[in-house]
Amino acid sequence: MTGTVTRKTHGIYTVKNNEGEFLCRISNKLRKDLVYPIASNRSLRKRVVEVRDIKKIDPVAIGDNVNFKLGGDEEGRGMIDEVLPRRNSMSRLGAGRKPIEQVIVSNIDQAVIVASVTYPKTNLFSIDRYLADAEISEIPAVIIATKTDLLEVDDIKKEYGIYQSIGYPVVYTSSKDGVGIEEAKEVLRNKRSVLLGRSGVGKSSLLNAMQPDLGLKVREVYNKTGEGMHTTTHLEMFELEFGGEIVDTPGMREFGVWRGRDMDWATLFPEMRPFLGGCKFGEGCKHLTEPGCKITEAVSAGQIAVSRYRSYCKLAGNSETAVRNIKEGRKIETGLMRRNRGADLESEY
Ligand code: GDP
Repeated sequence: MTGTVTRKTHGIYTVKNNEGEFLCRISNKLRKDLVYPIASNRSLRKRVVEVRDIKKIDPVAIGDNVNFKLGGDEEGRGMIDEVLPRRNSMSRLGAGRKPIEQVIVSNIDQAVIVASVTYPKTNLFSIDRYLADAEISEIPAVIIATKTDLLEVDDIKKEYGIYQSIGYPVVYTSSKDGVGIEEAKEVLRNKRSVLLGRSGVGKSSLLNAMQPDLGLKVREVYNKTGEGMHTTTHLEMFELEFGGEIVDTPGMREFGVWRGRDMDWATLFPEMRPFLGGCKFGEGCKHLTEPGCKITEAVSAGQIAVSRYRSYCKLAGNSETAVRNIKEGRKIETGLMRRNRGADLESEY
């Protein structure tokens, strides 16, 4: 039989299909076969470096389409023996000595970043990192801004407008005032969405506003797992009454960005892509202090937001240089930079 994994808890997977829900375990073969230590960053093909029984790293992810047989062992009612090819996925680095990819969710339509405009403010770097996670997995991303009743609209739009101009849709919501809730529903409708955002941003309130008790249901799952959800022992995909599915991932801050550390990180910033390839040092350009760099020129010209450029530098592991450049007003101290300089920019990082 074939079905979709909607829930996992302590080694038991719920697999759903037209005939119902089945509690399944996974076959030993699967547990051994599907562990891929990370090969070279540049290699396109993952290879199995080692075959061993790893209990912590899970070969089956939420959203996976799987083949399973009924009548497994005593504890479950079925046995998953094959994971069908994934359309896409979001992974994180599993715990342990070697970096091992742990796929958390697969076959996703969009990443939905839930960001609080204040109390507590989601910093722009967090947003940019989530966006980069989505980009590296080639998953479309949308931002839902929460608690918009707590700030002036102009201040909110000044920051979030950056994302709209890049092409990421932004929905402005206030669960308190019921603003933007229908729009948020439209974004989620009939899609499988992964929610990204820390606890406290107003996710439960937003989900409750869209569908009574949904926030409570989602939160209950994570209370069982405990603070931070670093263990990923319990994950669940929820169906939306108005169509679609959501998977929440509170506390998971690292998704795909670790995958290709020696890549050109600017490729994960859509607004930087048109400038790539034009730098004097070509592909060797790190877009920092190199002369003839098209990216830093575009930042200077106000074509790329300074906050995004700083996030780029931070993701690429060059935050010190970036901060120094900016503080010393070198190279990119013009236009947008000058306008934005000041308390709000500094407090972001
Ligand atoms: P979660 O941890 O992300 O699920 O966040 P909650 O939904 O529990 O909200 C965290 C806090 O923010 C609570 O005290 C909420 O009352 C508050 N909050 C959530 N949404 C809004 C909103 O739209 N406006 C205001 N003013 N407060 C909100």
